[in-house]
Amino acid sequence: MGYIQGEGRQQSSLFPPTLEELVPEDHLVRVIEAYVARLDLQALGFSKAEPLKTGRPGYDPADLLKLYLYGYFQRIRSSRRLEAECQRNVEVMWLLGRLAPDFKTIADFRKDNSAAFQATCRTFVQFCRQVGLISGQLVAIDGSKFQAVASQRKHLSLTKLKRQQAKLEAQIARYLAELDEADRSEAAEVVDRSAVKAALQQLESRHADNLTAQALMEVQGLEQFVVGESEARMMRTHQGARVAYNVQNAVDGEHGLIVHHAVTQDGSDNQQLEPMAKAAQAILAQEELTVTADAGYSNGEQFQACDDAGITAYVPENRGINNKGDDTPLFDRSAFSYDVENDQYQCPAGQWLSLKQVNGLQRIYALRGDCTACPLKSRCTKAKRRHVTRHVHEAAFERMHQRMQVHPEMMVRRRSIVEHPFGNLKQWILGNGRFLLRQLQGARTEMALAVNAYNLKRAINVMGARRLIELLG
Ligand code: SF4
Repeated sequence: MGYIQGEGRQQSSLFPPTLEELVPEDHLVRVIEAYVARLDLQALGFSKAEPLKTGRPGYDPADLLKLYLYGYFQRIRSSRRLEAECQRNVEVMWLLGRLAPDFKTIADFRKDNSAAFQATCRTFVQFCRQVGLISGQLVAIDGSKFQAVASQRKHLSLTKLKRQQAKLEAQIARYLAELDEADRSEAAEVVDRSAVKAALQQLESRHADNLTAQALMEVQGLEQFVVGESEARMMRTHQGARVAYNVQNAVDGEHGLIVHHAVTQDGSDNQQLEPMAKAAQAILAQEELTVTADAGYSNGEQFQACDDAGITAYVPENRGINNKGDDTPLFDRSAFSYDVENDQYQCPAGQWLSLKQVNGLQRIYALRGDCTACPLKSRCTKAKRRHVTRHVHEAAFERMHQRMQVHPEMMVRRRSIVEHPFGNLKQWILGNGRFLLRQLQGARTEMALAVNAYNLKRAINVMGARRLIELLG
């Protein structure tokens, strides 16, 4: 018995199959074709959306957009690889009608249309909303760090530079002292003066560069700087400190589609609840919205802003625990009751703590006298008297606390909603979770394409390609 044999390479056929016959009815490329066909590329801001009247015809932005959507869906992001796909991949041949732009044209299109890609991504979200793929009942917000192109070796910070400066100065002083010592002692002949001078020159030049870098950073008010990618920031990630961007996602609870995303330079999520929730509310065009996020988003000012905007947030409070340092808990602030009318606290011993100081967003309360005679002192404070702080937006914190008590399941729901999109974006779309394009604009371009491809994938999985093509048509 032999093996199954393929067709002979010289075999000709009477009726060769057309590209149309090679692509199944419910194929991804047909969805992309239907989706791009309904877009108004000029309104979305794509460059060259209107063909030139004279000169050599250029590529239609619709074709290049289709190529990128297909590429991000299939984990092909590099312009050189996309160029190769145009020449060998039947699906791309069908999508682009056998056009084969060179990598420079493909790369320039991505570079020149950052805002248009973001607008296109929003348009698909609106379409999903219209056809019921996004319900807007519950939106989960989360952030994750995506590595920038630049490596952490290119990262400079004022602290690091100052440390280096001190080291360089110590090395220069040591060399000079050794030279002086050699001059005075009999060892003068064994010291290679030209080598020492060259080493000193090198150290002094590095010292001057260091001072210049510090001065430039101080003039621009920068605490840190990444050479080659000035807009990226050093952030804490699961792999340690990395030069990265913080990507925020607001995900709809119904089918896990991403309603809104943002790429930020802020390593912390603490300032992101309000902007993300309000942006999701605007896209969904809802007067009221329910959102949930983890404790990293705990922020009294933003809790209040969400309440004012009709957004009901479920976020665990993230506040300091009062302990003695040996982990023995002291009376928590909840042991003190607040008297709203007189703006004062009553302590467990029945004494009144009045307002002493306002420090930024914190109002600080204390007894008029001290606590030394109190029998409960050992359980209350190690200082002479106990202070209790109240956030300016304490009422918003309290409302949040009550909401979380009533709905503790919100944290489980949050996790189940947001983990899937981030897992997909990191592994499935962006490969190793690292951007290919530099600077904030590059990261935003890539994320818009990745989110668009992710939402397309979810829509196909939920509805099926045939139904989606019908709705897009
Ligand atoms: S230590 Fe001071 S604040 Fe604490 S219970 Fe006693 S009197 Fe009240």
